[in-house]
Amino acid sequence: MAEHTISTLQNFVDGRFVPAISGRTLEDIEPAKGTLLHHIARSGSQDVEQAVQSARCAWEGPWSRWDTEARAALCDRIAQRMEERLEELALAESRDTGKPIQLTRNLDIPRAIANFRFFAGAIRHDTTHSHHQAEALHYTRRRPIGLVALITPWNLPLYLLTWKVAPALAMGNVIIAKPSEMTPWTATLLAEIIEEVGLPKGVFQLLHGLGTEVGQALIEHPQVQAISFTGGTLTGAKVAAAAAPHFKKLSLELGGKNPTLIFEDCDLATTIQGACRAGFANQGQICLAGSRILVQRSIFDAVRDGLLHTLHSMQIGDPLDPQTKLGALISAEHRAKIEHYVQIAQDHGATVHCGGHRPTLSAPFDQGFFYTPTLISGLPQNSPLIQEEIFGPVVTLQAFDDEADAIGMANDIRYGLSATVWTRDLQRAHRVSAALECGMVWVNTWLQRDLRTPFGGFKASGIGREGGSHSLDFFGELQNITIALDHPTPSEQTGALASFGQRTLPPQATPLTRSRS
Ligand code: NAD
Repeated sequence: MAEHTISTLQNFVDGRFVPAISGRTLEDIEPAKGTLLHHIARSGSQDVEQAVQSARCAWEGPWSRWDTEARAALCDRIAQRMEERLEELALAESRDTGKPIQLTRNLDIPRAIANFRFFAGAIRHDTTHSHHQAEALHYTRRRPIGLVALITPWNLPLYLLTWKVAPALAMGNVIIAKPSEMTPWTATLLAEIIEEVGLPKGVFQLLHGLGTEVGQALIEHPQVQAISFTGGTLTGAKVAAAAAPHFKKLSLELGGKNPTLIFEDCDLATTIQGACRAGFANQGQICLAGSRILVQRSIFDAVRDGLLHTLHSMQIGDPLDPQTKLGALISAEHRAKIEHYVQIAQDHGATVHCGGHRPTLSAPFDQGFFYTPTLISGLPQNSPLIQEEIFGPVVTLQAFDDEADAIGMANDIRYGLSATVWTRDLQRAHRVSAALECGMVWVNTWLQRDLRTPFGGFKASGIGREGGSHSLDFFGELQNITIALDHPTPSEQTGALASFGQRTLPPQATPLTRSRS
């Protein structure tokens, strides 16, 4: 690999890469080594103001005349260019997040590309309704909103950023994106790609920096008309509070603490592999992670032993080694938070079946933020480890007796993002799925996505849905137009009935009785 020179990742404003107006920077750390990867622009309210003015010019300029096909073709060109740079994007994402490159190559970046292709197709094939009355025709059209702010987290950086950028662009909006300050690299590469494919300046802009500084300034700016936010539930509450007085359109995709329900009639081998993947993929740092495994008591020991066997075989270490299954956590602070939770479990006498410590790795990874996969049982339902989102490789195991017991435990939580049910009983699959209080349920699979389906959570897991027409609804304003039709006069109506009778009915029948018979 070529020597990495430490550069400063800049903002992309008004069609140019520029430093923050204050000249200030932040450090972007490589999680697997604990060393400096980049400096990044530390933007503030002045940068937001400049980007908003540029977005406004773009909104009033030629961009507003790009038709559906032009915007769809643009999304296709972005996807094409990302495909050509896939290896570079996969490497950047792996180094910036600490996640295994086999994940960024096979999941994160291909999905980011698919987001652009999908929304290119979605707007090409989009339809809206028309409603017909005798006196009027009503037809509904989608129009872009205007300036939208997109704020994203660090766990799936390009995957989630493009999940918002693609529909927002496809719908014809102007965008200011604020990626996580922890993972700014692939967002910067996306800005390069967007510049290469030739978008009018000001349509897509990128501001780096802290959520409490540039993020807050962005959501409070009166000319930002909509906010699509993905991140933690606590931050989501702050975003909602700032947006409410301005009646900004708001989409919130927030935290999860998702149950995996394993019934005794499941296919055990497939279930154990699925539950393991759901719990530990991306080191458990996925909002959809199955971090609470609920197992029917009769197979509790078999599931526990199967999970332990699989976990012991998972390679942890260098994210750039294609064999690595578990990489580093995002930061030292995040690892400290996870260690704190495990300490609580130990203090309460829970059983830590595996993990619960840092792995021993050789240099340079001995300085990285690694943590061994951890499986814990013996915790009460009200334990913070059951109730709070840990967002790391720590999974709890609980036993249940019957369906009602399982559903009760699964729902007894403030979150409601997703759940997974493992059973071979079809009726049970339907029954249990319908009773679960969450936005998405997988049966005998996990993270099987179709980009047309609604994505989002109940309760503290968010507000609104993304995906397919839901994203187009969010990034557009529906406008209904009603056109009055000529009113027929009473004599014209009589004439019409008479002529209808003449054309179609035998002479002895009257048109009205005939038409109702
Ligand atoms: P976070 O809430 O700390 O940060 C998310 C983004 O918000 C970052 O860009 C951050 O800079 C910004 N931000 C922080 N404070 C802000 C403020 N006051 N105003 C405006 N912006 C602000 O979340 P995180 O730690 O980056 O990500 C992990 C969380 O994201 C987890 O809770 C996870 O469940 C959630 N998540 C949810 C989904 C979903 O689709 N539901 C997907 C991925 C991650």
